Amino acid sequence: MGSSPGRLVQVALNRPIWCTYTYRLPERLDHGDLDGCRVAVPLGKDRLIGYILENEDPPETPSYEVREILGRLDRSPMLPGEIMRLIRWCWSYYQAPPGMMMAAAHPPGTSGKVIRRITLLTEPAAGHPLEGLLRKDETVEVSSLTEGLESDLDSLKLLDGLVAAGKARFSWTPKSSPSRLTEIAVEPVDRRNLTSLAHSIRKKAPRQAEILFHLAMTDEPLARKAVLRAAGASLSSMASLVKAGRVREIRREKLRDPMADISITGQDIPPKLSEAQYRAMRTILDNPCGTHLLHGVTGSGKTEVYLRVISNVIEKGGSALVLVPEISLTPLTVSRFGRRFPGLVTVLHSGMSPGERMDSWTMARSGERRIVIGPRSAVFAPLPDLGVIVVDEEHDGSYKQNELPRYNGRDVAVVRGSQAGIPVILGSASPSMETYGNALSGRYSLIQLPERIDGVPMPVTSLVKAGDMKHPLLSDQLLAGIGKRTAKGEQCIVLINRRGFSPVQACRNCGLTRECPDCGINLTYHKKGQALRCHYCGYWEPAMVKCPRCGFGVFSHLGPGIQKVQEALGELLPRTRIIRMDSDTTRGRRSHWDILRSFANGEGDVLLGTQMVAKGHDFSNVTLVGIIAADMGLSFPDFRAAERTFQLILQVAGRAGRGSLPGEVIVQTLDPDDKTILAASAHDYETFWKDESAVREVFGYPPFGHLVRFVWSGLDKVAVPSIARMCMMEFDQEDILVSPVQEAAFSRIGRRWRWSALARSGSRAALASFSREVRRRMDGITPRKGVRLEIDVDPNNLL
Ligand code: ADP
Ligand code: ZN
Repeated sequence: MGSSPGRLVQVALNRPIWCTYTYRLPERLDHGDLDGCRVAVPLGKDRLIGYILENEDPPETPSYEVREILGRLDRSPMLPGEIMRLIRWCWSYYQAPPGMMMAAAHPPGTSGKVIRRITLLTEPAAGHPLEGLLRKDETVEVSSLTEGLESDLDSLKLLDGLVAAGKARFSWTPKSSPSRLTEIAVEPVDRRNLTSLAHSIRKKAPRQAEILFHLAMTDEPLARKAVLRAAGASLSSMASLVKAGRVREIRREKLRDPMADISITGQDIPPKLSEAQYRAMRTILDNPCGTHLLHGVTGSGKTEVYLRVISNVIEKGGSALVLVPEISLTPLTVSRFGRRFPGLVTVLHSGMSPGERMDSWTMARSGERRIVIGPRSAVFAPLPDLGVIVVDEEHDGSYKQNELPRYNGRDVAVVRGSQAGIPVILGSASPSMETYGNALSGRYSLIQLPERIDGVPMPVTSLVKAGDMKHPLLSDQLLAGIGKRTAKGEQCIVLINRRGFSPVQACRNCGLTRECPDCGINLTYHKKGQALRCHYCGYWEPAMVKCPRCGFGVFSHLGPGIQKVQEALGELLPRTRIIRMDSDTTRGRRSHWDILRSFANGEGDVLLGTQMVAKGHDFSNVTLVGIIAADMGLSFPDFRAAERTFQLILQVAGRAGRGSLPGEVIVQTLDPDDKTILAASAHDYETFWKDESAVREVFGYPPFGHLVRFVWSGLDKVAVPSIARMCMMEFDQEDILVSPVQEAAFSRIGRRWRWSALARSGSRAALASFSREVRRRMDGITPRKGVRLEIDVDPNNLL
């Protein structure tokens, strides 16, 4: 086509690169708001979706030949301006590839490869090569059409000619775009005197009369299925009306509704708020912008506070966003919101098909549904007039995305709230150290709900020293407890705190583990060489032969397996029905929902599982919770090991005694004197915070310092560490502590070798400019031998 006029623009592509690409935007496409618009661009032989980014630094004329944008997919940007602003903050703060950040904020199926289609605007003339292949108003993929045409024909030229003559139109769509659903709607041909007409045919054709009567009740076309159901009529009655020219059928687009198969029954009468709940609600409503930590024990009525604040926002014409951990996004949670706000709620989550998510997203964007519930990615939901954001279980690790683009949905929610000037509520029974630190320093307001609703007591916790047990896995206390409860028809939850991977050397008798003197984390165990190594800094020492605390000589490396516990329970309590839930039993789309539902329906006496069983489910019949190897999580080689263990014990203990029956918790641990376990058993968050913050402060971990992690990976075993070292060579940064480049704890994932480095600093700004420098060095290295660098700001997973 040669060089046509048009300015140069920057386009972000959904690939793991930080830079944008420069393309020429033809004048015919240059109109309206372009920021964030999806366009089709050529890259090599591919045709890809890119996002136009306006208002960035003006592109320099690149050294390569600038190619032309092929077409626009959007007449106006899919994402509203405030979401674009949020995404810009994200890619700069998280040092994330802009195109990947853009794609993450769009519903799935809207990025990737594109295909070109052609729509005929007029019927092809007789004898035209397209005759018989394509009709007026029909749309087909261009490549499939050119294959169908005779080979000697210059087919593309033919199509170009049609478009130039205004007889056809090209369009670009994502290759993997979700299908659109359509339905048939009906409306009367003539609305005048419809009811009298219906009345007059009532004797002869009663079903047809009913149909006309229902159509007379509104001015809108109605879904045919709904009319037939309401009129108790069959398709043939409708067909007769159509044939008689009284009713017209129209095909229209139908949005899939994720709430459709969630049963929302029973009227919801909001309870009278407790005094503490009322004060919490007032604090939030009276401080319309700002972040609030709602710290309340499990069962203290946090959810009710969310519901009241949201109801206030909705009454004023606003909308609300509710973020929850993916695993607690159950039909139960959703139906609680659905009952309170009928017709206003929609959900967005990864278990939905791309089509369902697209439709749910569309309903949020248009304001048709004003409350969105979803996991971290829903933080980008395009709700107009957003009035409040709730982040439930804010401490949950699943808010951080552990793959590109790495962002923390909770923290992005706080930023979105402050950009929009609206309140953000972070709710938890065991807040993260970061959030509690922010509340103590006054950046967030701290609202406490210290008691359960109606004075329901917290469960009673007892500690059992695992070393004294007769059976290696199950204490007499736990077995007796399960027996007693199930005999009464009550249910139990048994949690196994299993490390699962990454081995650590722990004394089988007292639970002692070895820590790195510089990083304060547990050393990982390397069987080959019998060594203990710190995967943050590389410190190493020989593995223990004898426990330095108790003199015992046997060590465990992974913790008890769930299958062993299941077998032991089956032997010792043969009549107990056990439902098991772990990553092996929950593969598949909805199976963890199914498992929880069958337990809630009383199909099992004991729910046995890993960390998964701890998350916010509300079973009123559970009166006993047992935790096996509670201290196993403490030896996890991560600076958050104590925090995670504390949260887990509190969460799962909170499952006991939610109904009218009092609850009991039995904690089996090798070291019953451990301060984290003691604080968790006493539901004492403040003491835990004081102990743990002292440790964090010494080593400069959050909330007293900030972290950025760098991970290099690639297929070439030698190139990965050598390129990593080139990036980190000779930095002289006073305010930053950088570890030497280390083999990652997971030294190989898939076929890629992994090396990492960790930077700690009290200054986020210093870390950000340091990371940009590392990035610049990485970009400057050639050849890169397929090695990739990922930057993880505020990392959550350090393995
Ligand atoms: P949390 O979210 O803190 O775990 P919930 O909001 O789920 O607590 O409340 C626990 C239970 O108490 C729920 O069954 C809820 O319906 C009930 N509840 C909450 N607030 C009140 C209230 N003010 N009066 C009576 N019952 C309440
Ligand atoms: Zn170390």
